[in-house]
Amino acid sequence: MKAISILGSTGSIGTQTLQIVEEFPDQFNVVALAAGSNLNLLVQQIEKHKPEVVAIANESLLPELQNRLNDLLSIKKLPRLPQLVGGADGLKTIASWDHADLVVTGIVGCAGLLPTLAAIRAGKDLALANKETLIAAAPVVLPELKRSGSRLLPADSEHSAIFQCLQGTPWAENARLSTGIPTPGLRHIQLTASGGAFRDWETNDLKNATIQDATSHPNWSMGKKITVDSATLMNKGLEVIEAHYLFGLNYKQIEIVIHPQSIIHSMVELADSSVLAQLGWPDMKLPILYCMSWPNRLETPWKRLNLTEVKQLSFFEPDRKKYPCMDLAYAAGQSGGTMPAVLNAANEEAVAQFLKEKIHFLDIPRMIEITCERHKNDLIEEPTLNDILLVDNWARKEVQENLKRNSL
Ligand code: NAD
Ligand code: MG
Repeated sequence: MKAISILGSTGSIGTQTLQIVEEFPDQFNVVALAAGSNLNLLVQQIEKHKPEVVAIANESLLPELQNRLNDLLSIKKLPRLPQLVGGADGLKTIASWDHADLVVTGIVGCAGLLPTLAAIRAGKDLALANKETLIAAAPVVLPELKRSGSRLLPADSEHSAIFQCLQGTPWAENARLSTGIPTPGLRHIQLTASGGAFRDWETNDLKNATIQDATSHPNWSMGKKITVDSATLMNKGLEVIEAHYLFGLNYKQIEIVIHPQSIIHSMVELADSSVLAQLGWPDMKLPILYCMSWPNRLETPWKRLNLTEVKQLSFFEPDRKKYPCMDLAYAAGQSGGTMPAVLNAANEEAVAQFLKEKIHFLDIPRMIEITCERHKNDLIEEPTLNDILLVDNWARKEVQENLKRNSL
């Protein structure tokens, strides 16, 4: 039995992880849950999974959570109360909970950084969905992983595909642990992208894109922020940086391919020019399950891939003019140091402003570009955690200031 701790249990990744736990009650149990502020769903999850400890990031909701759980206890729907914790320290408690074997990081954005570090410092294995953490803070996260011996298992579908393909390369021991060391024999990666909500739109029409348009993904059902990232293709740009850190390749060795059917989840080319791919229906439960069962495979009753049903797999080069976020991400990755943290924070803030209807869809890449440009002279090549937290904060403020200046 593997004991699971979930950061972000009420989100898309968190709820799918809990579905897996329900499907495999003999394999997994949930010992710790953390959520942002969705109290109703969190209470339902506690009633069903009976964790030992629960955190709510929004501390002001702790008394209400306590009352709701007392009610459940009094009507015997809970055998005992879980330990309740709140705020930033509460998230760290969930991440480093003694009885947990694997921590699933499903918090969105750089808010996941400190809890992820707490999990690593406690020596926990991680199912990493929260890519922003690695992108912003790899210079700190990778050495911490090495020190603690925690294993970083990629839950992002593309990186899971690469990781799965590399299981067939027994000489590439490093790839099994994914700690940023170059993977011997791995020559090239092709990251596949669905093309997001605007795949079939003309570039000219993007100026009219609404929130509704940008948050409707053709193939995957995900949280709002990552769905907008998919529409700008920043998600793929962030994944290029994620792949660079996970598999130790340089940026020329990582390529983006538009694959509208989302059946091939990514491909690796090995030294002898052989290409391996991992295929499946677009369903995040599969890469999450692989993190949970690795190195084993569990029998699932899930819908099996039938290529005669899919009929056609197609591939296109991405349009770099239509999706400027991709090149912004490559450039930030190549600059290294604190630049990916700035790119990530500017993107988080710009997407948040777009979702509040404060800026246009096409302003998202503009805001990011201006912010990265301003950071060039202040770039820190080997940042500490404090440096990363400072530039993250700076970049968010910079986007807000820029917005104020433009609206005057
Ligand atoms: P989501 O918005 O659906 O869920 C986010 C979760 O994090 C929620 O439980 C929320 O309560 C919690 N949260 C938000 N802000 C918080 C804060 N400040 N402190 C503590 N908790 C907070 O997001 P999601 O789509 O599940 O994505 C989660 C992460 O997984 C992201 O980093 C995303 O890039 C990555 N990811 C998601 C998918 C997917 O299919 N959803 C696929 C690949 C990678
Ligand atoms: Mg992905």
